[in-house]
Order: sequence, then structure tokens, then C-alpha cells
Amino acid sequence: MLNLVILPIECDDKSILTQIQKGVSIAFPNLSCSIGPGSKGLLEGCFNSKRGQYNASRVLQKMSRQVRLHPRDSFLGVTSVDLYVPDMNFVFGLAGMSERVGLISLNRLKSETYGGEPDHVLFVDRAVKEAVHEMGHVFGLSHCRRSSCVMYFSNSIYDTDRKGRVFCAPCKANIDKTLS
Ligand SMILES: [Zn+2]
Ligand SMILES: [Zn+2]
Repeated sequence: MLNLVILPIECDDKSILTQIQKGVSIAFPNLSCSIGPGSKGLLEGCFNSKRGQYNASRVLQKMSRQVRLHPRDSFLGVTSVDLYVPDMNFVFGLAGMSERVGLISLNRLKSETYGGEPDHVLFVDRAVKEAVHEMGHVFGLSHCRRSSCVMYFSNSIYDTDRKGRVFCAPCKANIDKTLS
């Protein structure tokens, strides 16, 4: 059985990590999922001071070096810092399709970011969706055109809120084939 290790990267919120672990385990019953030690060093050299954000592709590159040492593991980095890729204002997450690494940022998932009242249930829901989405990419899925499928592309937080936490039937069949 493949292991999925959740790596906290500047993320002190233990409860959200546990909730992500639960949500990912439901979406990927063929994976064993654990929470690894914090790895602050993965952000070193990835900060862009002009943008005030971290380069997600660089963080992923650093993560993929770790993966080579652990052939039975895949990794999901969870960070509280804001992430970007060069041609976008920000990203909720990113995945290296062939490298067994995914990364999500919690930075834009809280209601307060959008002028709302704190809503922990909504925050957890969004974090689980982004985590399952990026790990879906890691295991070979592309974006899905069904807006209720977790693999639907989130251009904004409204897309994230509209979609579900799990895969539609065709995406699920693909994942099952990959992980069987
Ligand atoms: Zn995606
Ligand atoms: Zn789908």
C-alpha cells in the first residue's frame, strides 16, 4: 500500500492537519495517510520579496528531492503561506504529476479573507477539497469538466465551495485503476 505523508510546512494548526488527513483518507481508501514532521526548510529560497509570496513550483521541486529517498511514499505539503506560480496572481495549490508531490496553501481558504465571519467548518471543507484535488493530480488525474467533481479547476474560492470533496464516477474509476 502506498503511503501519503502530509508535511506541515509553516503550519502550526494541528487540528486542520488531522481534518485534512481524515478527508484524504475518505477520498483515497487505497492509501494509508499519516502526518509527518514539520519541514520549514522547504520554503528556504522560495520567497519572492516583490510579490510577498512563495513560489509554489520551487517548493515542489524541493519536495520532489525528498521523494526520491522514499519510493513508497507520496507527499502533500500543507502551508499557511501564500503561494504563486509566475503567470498567476496566486494558487490554492500545485502538484507535480510524475513526482508524487502536491502542495496546498491555507492562506486564502478562511472566510475572513473574503470579508466574512470566521467559519471553521467551511475552512476545513475548503482545505480538504484542495488537498484531495492536488493529490488527484499526483495520481494522474487532469481537471474534470463536472463542476461538482473535486477535480474541477478552482479559479476562485466560489468554485471550491461549489464542488464536492470526492471524485465523480469516471475520475474515481481512473484513480482506482492507478492505485489498485
Ligand atoms: Zn488542478
Ligand atoms: Zn471528475
